[in-house]
Amino acid sequence: MSRPAVKVVGGGLAGAEAVWTLASRGIRVILYEMRPRTSTPAHKTDFLAEVVCSNSFGADAPTSPAGILKRELRSLGSLIMECADKARVPAGKALAVDRDIFSGLVTEALENHPLVEIVREEVTSIPEGPAIIATGPLTSPSMAEEIKKLAGEDYLSFFDAIAPVVEADSIDMAIAFRRGRWGQEDDYINCPFTREEYEAFIKALTTAERAAPHDFEDSPSWFEGCLPVEVMASRGLDTLRFGPMRPVGLPLPGTDREAWAVAQLRQDNKEGTLYNIVGFQTSLRWGEQERVFRMIPGLERAEFARFGVMHRNIYVNAPAALDPFLRFKGGPQDLFLAGQITGVEGYLESTAMGLAAALNAAALLLEKPFPRWPRETAVGALLHYLGDAVERRFQPMNVNLGIFPPLAEKVRNKARRAELTALRAEEALAPLLEDLAGR
Ligand SMILES: Cc1cc2nc3c(=O)[nH]c(=O)nc-3n(C[C@H](O)[C@H](O)[C@H](O)COP(=O)(O)OP(=O)(O)OC[C@H]3O[C@@H](n4cnc5c(N)ncnc54)[C@H](O)[C@@H]3O)c2cc1C
Repeated sequence: MSRPAVKVVGGGLAGAEAVWTLASRGIRVILYEMRPRTSTPAHKTDFLAEVVCSNSFGADAPTSPAGILKRELRSLGSLIMECADKARVPAGKALAVDRDIFSGLVTEALENHPLVEIVREEVTSIPEGPAIIATGPLTSPSMAEEIKKLAGEDYLSFFDAIAPVVEADSIDMAIAFRRGRWGQEDDYINCPFTREEYEAFIKALTTAERAAPHDFEDSPSWFEGCLPVEVMASRGLDTLRFGPMRPVGLPLPGTDREAWAVAQLRQDNKEGTLYNIVGFQTSLRWGEQERVFRMIPGLERAEFARFGVMHRNIYVNAPAALDPFLRFKGGPQDLFLAGQITGVEGYLESTAMGLAAALNAAALLLEKPFPRWPRETAVGALLHYLGDAVERRFQPMNVNLGIFPPLAEKVRNKARRAELTALRAEEALAPLLEDLAGR
């Protein structure tokens, strides 16, 4: 009996990667892409793997977390990486692409593959398996409703309101202090401001450059309930001091005196290597976030694992909704989720989740065990984050040093830490590459 074709829904970065991964293993694929008949608020072309915003795929240095991910994708035969390398434009240490050449190459490769059929229509219900859903952060409304049914009512989000996340060991604990409000458990790290520091900070915050709003993000329903910190600050000098930065119940260490204001940081992952700045969801430009948030006492040398964002983004609460193989818990065993919608963030992170889902689907069809990704690899670290993040506060994550397991020894120098992490990732990937090559 011939093997059934895998249906892939969504021909974005993850979907295109998934199709290629399957077809390269001799598996027939039907790809459903709704553009150009129906588009999303951000896509402009009918290309597969359209890059909707920046043309940068991030750092390419082999020792950077994004570079580690790129190396893994390349060594697994990634179509997205192959086309990105061919469409490369000068961008210093980053990998940036000519977006039309890049998406054109991906489209051509898939259109010309004998095992790939491309159907240009919107899919409005979950297809019979084997299937991969890769409909992205701007999934069409009818499909989003279907996904909600599988993920569970409370486990599908429609927008991001993310506060910046910093690496724990870049916080200056000679200035910041641990304490819970009103003597509760010491779960929070508090950064205390003097009046002068606070006023200078508010001035910088309210005059910093904001990311250009996308026209499709007009009047978002989250706006009143979850205001960007810079908007709150612009409502009055004391608004933050009486809101997320209130110092009450947080006396300075060894005193009964409170600071003028306090920025609180809350643990963001189980290992305690990452902390988010509570209530600081923001739409400031990333460079501006670095400049302004380093004015927070104790964060002068903070390393940002991820910046804050506020935009439309449909994603599942992965730790609650997905099993370790990117399937819905309790859902069909031959239905996989891929891309940004799994709860990762970023072009290549989405691509990686397309590759991982496709390798799982291939294993199922070829009756092989699911690939086991060591957590020391970048793909493994992302998958582990999806399974193990704190469910109650789950937010999409990009690849960064904080999601890799800590090194056996504490290494203060960040460059050295990255280098050792990269070496360890390379070693950890080798057995998986061997296993996949033998299939
Ligand atoms: C506005 C915006 C800007 C972003 N900018 C960046 C950035 O600059 N850098 C970065 O690293 N990341 C960025 N991201 C995050 C993310 O990396 C990208 O969205 C990335 O394209 C996600 O890949 P994906 O394959 O999961 O989804 P997509 O690339 O969006 O692909 C999903 C595909 O599914 C199709 N589709 C949707 N519903 C259906 C359906 N029912 N039936 C058939 N087809 C369907 C869509 O048309 C689309 O082609 C941005 C996200 C958004 C929303």
